Amino acid sequence: MALARPVVFGNWKMNGSAADGEALCRALAAKAASGLEGTLGVFPPAVLLPRAGAWLDASPVLLGAQDCHGEAKGAFTGDLAAPMLVEAGAKAIIVGHSERRQYHDESDATVRGKAEAAIAAGAIAVICIGETEAEYVAGETLQRLEAQLAGSVPDLATAATVVVAYEPVWAIGTGRTPTNAEITAAHGFLREQLVARFADGADFRLLYGGSVKASNAQEILHLANVDGALVGGASLEADGFWTIYEAGLGG
Ligand code: PEP
Repeated sequence: MALARPVVFGNWKMNGSAADGEALCRALAAKAASGLEGTLGVFPPAVLLPRAGAWLDASPVLLGAQDCHGEAKGAFTGDLAAPMLVEAGAKAIIVGHSERRQYHDESDATVRGKAEAAIAAGAIAVICIGETEAEYVAGETLQRLEAQLAGSVPDLATAATVVVAYEPVWAIGTGRTPTNAEITAAHGFLREQLVARFADGADFRLLYGGSVKASNAQEILHLANVDGALVGGASLEADGFWTIYEAGLGG
């Protein structure tokens, strides 16, 4: 079964001391103590995963990891395998983030392998795709999304095992976002592609990511085919992140 809407995930990236992480997790756990209608998740740096699980305690806030290797084990110094992350408490793993694609030269095939590894380990693969600014300016957004979706999402994907995040590279951490019409067009296109390829394509959760914050969450999270948000910078502060989650409720 797909995750309950809205799905709001916080990608901490390479941020957060243990003290920061503890304060954030405990604050979110307190807000979620009476239950969650949707899905709220935090994705701390891997070294904090076991402690984050303890800080979240028995709250319904989902714990996830950022990135994994495509192999389940082996001679890959410095890398982390999906089964290790799951053992450390991760229920979902972000793969194909544009920062991985850009700074670690990850191809669609690499991302697909990582998604397969995450799913095989029992985690949900949160697969990120998105056009660069040059592609956006050239009007090539949909072609890029079509190629990345086809190349990065494995054939075995289902709505229960994969979440797709549309993150325009030029909107990440910049304060800039596409227009509502552009987000609607991109998500509608991705939905069509998923429905054409997967029996349960209509149920896949499609997240928008790129400069989502408390002040723009309400309008973005209620656009057609937007099931939630992948949030970077604004996920590092509990009240603002919770406001984003609440903005997605009801529809
Ligand atoms: C991200 O890194 O996935 C992201 C969307 O970042 P930000 O919200 O800071 O733009």
